Amino acid sequence: MSNLQSAARDHLWMHFTRLGAYEKADVPIIVKGEGPYVFDSNGKRYLDGLAGLFVVQVGHGRTELAEAAAKQAAELAFFPIWSYAHPRAIELAERIANYAPGDLNRVFFTASGSEAVESAWKLAKQFFKLTGKPDKHKVISRQVAYHGTTHGALSITGIPGLKEPYEPLVPSTVHVANTNFYRAPEHGDDLEAFGRWSADQIDIAIQAEGPDTVCAVFLEPVQNAGGCFPPPPGYFARVREICDKHDVLLVSDEVICAFGRLGEMFGASRYNYQPDIITCAKGLTSGYSPMGAMIASERLVQPFLTGNTTYAHGYTFGGHPVSAAVALANLDIFEREGLNEHVRKNEGAFRETLEKLLDLDIVGDVRGDGYFYGIELVKDKATKETFDEDESELLLRGFLSKALYQAGLYCRADDRGDPVIQLSPPLTCGQEHFDEMEHILRDVLSRAQELL
Ligand code: PMP
Repeated sequence: MSNLQSAARDHLWMHFTRLGAYEKADVPIIVKGEGPYVFDSNGKRYLDGLAGLFVVQVGHGRTELAEAAAKQAAELAFFPIWSYAHPRAIELAERIANYAPGDLNRVFFTASGSEAVESAWKLAKQFFKLTGKPDKHKVISRQVAYHGTTHGALSITGIPGLKEPYEPLVPSTVHVANTNFYRAPEHGDDLEAFGRWSADQIDIAIQAEGPDTVCAVFLEPVQNAGGCFPPPPGYFARVREICDKHDVLLVSDEVICAFGRLGEMFGASRYNYQPDIITCAKGLTSGYSPMGAMIASERLVQPFLTGNTTYAHGYTFGGHPVSAAVALANLDIFEREGLNEHVRKNEGAFRETLEKLLDLDIVGDVRGDGYFYGIELVKDKATKETFDEDESELLLRGFLSKALYQAGLYCRADDRGDPVIQLSPPLTCGQEHFDEMEHILRDVLSRAQELL
């Protein structure tokens, strides 16, 4: 076999990657994982501050998940759930329904988060066609929010730069304000009033589009892109009211926020709201095999339960037996090790440790919940002035991503909104790992300050 470095450069098309960046530089090749750490091809160790990509909840190197996959592959490696069923998909659907809030009892499996989002939009449209409101088809979501990359999901995504190369996209999506309180000066320090205002933007958008044309609102419990925007108090209660008033479905996109990221199986439970649909993926299997799901309420499945009506939608690998077996074993680890309780017990310490960084001039804001945090970087802390495009390029791509990685921390420096560093470590992490993150960030951010 040829050298891995040159083969990576010649043949591997890395996702969301400037391939040009590797014309001269080495591609980082990760070969092994152990607990919250990963190792590269030179044997160097890194703290996995992002759980891969908000995925590896139980940490790396869990042989019992590998064994669950091997056992299932030997017994029944594949069979579709198109008109048929197999035991692992049935068991997992029942288990997810038990964890999901309220009467979200029907589980439609996919292989990814984008597919779960597509499924939710298609279900919302068809449900209303079947129940006498055929014009309801538009979706409201939030600015800068990421909901996936397939055409439908990308249309719901609110990041213009990701969409432009692929336009025209699916029409009929509308984007409203997100809950970025740090950048809402007109609301002073009244978080609750800000929450009310931002929820009301959804009401205004639905009315402007015409309630008869809107089928769903897609929201994450904590918005990832932009750097972890938690919901202000009262936000989701108000959104629920608005959705009920206009008969619009509330879709909680929990591709990141489910399975312990916020210390609960589902983010909606953390913030006490009842969605009509939950979309999830990533942490369902902790990434040991790919899987996603759309979880729908009793009301939404009702029109499909009798007669000839079909939700004419599916994916070959939806409910894959090996992934379902891995998900069940993954959820066993959650129960046995009390991972949600662990997150709830330690999230305060995680926040406090990261907040120490607020003494650096470059750190404007530290925000998030659970094991999910964004650190916003600013040019001037007093005025909250952010970096221009060139500075951001120099800071994030030119310096921070590389320097953090070289210092032994894998995390994400992101400028889809204002520049942020994002942390979302495996749920098994504790104080020693929080300290390790803080020390590395302190050192690298101090150097970034000097650079500027
Ligand atoms: N929705 C949200 C909220 C996400 O964070 C993501 C992925 N980061 C997706 C959808 C898309 O998931 P996938 O990459 O598995 O298609």
